[in-house]
Amino acid sequence: MENFFGLTLSNLEAQIGALGKEKYRARQLFRWVYNLGNLDFSEMTNIPKGLRTIFGEMFSLKTLPISQALSSRDGSIKFAFVADDGQIIESVLMPEKKRTTLCVSTQIGCRMGCRFCVTGKMGFRRNLNAAEIVGQLITVREHLKKTEKGPVTNIVFMGMGEPMDNIDNVMTALDILKDPGGLDLSYRKITLSSVGLLDGLRALDSKSAVIAISLNAADDATRSMLMPINRLYSIGKIMEFVRDFKGTKRTRITFEYILIKGVNDSLDDAKKLADLLKDIKCKINLIPYNASSYTEFETPERAQVDRFHKHLIDRYFTTIIRDSRGQDVCGACGQLGMGYLESAPDKGDTPRKKRTTSPEVTS
Ligand code: SF4
Repeated sequence: MENFFGLTLSNLEAQIGALGKEKYRARQLFRWVYNLGNLDFSEMTNIPKGLRTIFGEMFSLKTLPISQALSSRDGSIKFAFVADDGQIIESVLMPEKKRTTLCVSTQIGCRMGCRFCVTGKMGFRRNLNAAEIVGQLITVREHLKKTEKGPVTNIVFMGMGEPMDNIDNVMTALDILKDPGGLDLSYRKITLSSVGLLDGLRALDSKSAVIAISLNAADDATRSMLMPINRLYSIGKIMEFVRDFKGTKRTRITFEYILIKGVNDSLDDAKKLADLLKDIKCKINLIPYNASSYTEFETPERAQVDRFHKHLIDRYFTTIIRDSRGQDVCGACGQLGMGYLESAPDKGDTPRKKRTTSPEVTS
């Protein structure tokens, strides 16, 4: 049985067409499942009963089993889902005043090895398929039906994994999320965060999603130390890509900058960053790092964060400080998965220290 959440509308039309049935049935299914939120074929009353039975035998509408849903004091919820092979998939729901954002994962583990990141320490397990990516949203949506919380309005691909390292499944998931006959999410409501895998990013266009690049340093030595991928895709190459990127008038690339004490948080670093981005239409998100016993890095002083921020504002950059959400429930990517690995040491592939302090934030 095929997982429905991994099928684009055209995949579905092709499968229904191959049965000798009307292709518009695919649109009806998309509307029932994504638009009306009905996950029971037998209730899709504008489809003939016999066909509903056939669809029920062909497609699965099973959501991801939730093994944990940890609510944070700040209102965010960290979910751990169990995939069919027993691996843990993480998402974080972040309600705000005007929107509710779901941060989804695209891989289990990650091969980018960013030194500040818990997921990076896990190593790479596997890519998520499109059904598992879309399934995170559908499962959370079902969960929210039982609560007072509003619907998910925005999606960020910033959970476990590097989206551009799993580009085919991510593109399929984007197609499904944006389909006007289904969830109909505008590309402006979807942010795709990348360390800067340029081959993947070049395959995107300005209407694929909002692009966020995890920069974290304005010089190659610091960035390569924090993010080994910088040896392949240096800051210079990323800037070249950003300058060439054909966006709409409103398109602005977002740069994420995790501030780490004594590593990249000085006023000098702020000046270098401002110089680097001075002719680029962009937005900067500053994310103060949360120390974790999984890594050697420390949280920056608040006064230092404010100084860094002020310098960028004084240089007319749109800059916000994004404090990480759900710190009391392991809100950063990889932390729940890491917890599972600690209780199942045969699955771990990197030596780990016991956590003694609050978790950290990752891109
Ligand atoms: S920060 Fe993102 S890309 Fe880097 S190791 Fe972590 S999950 Fe992978």
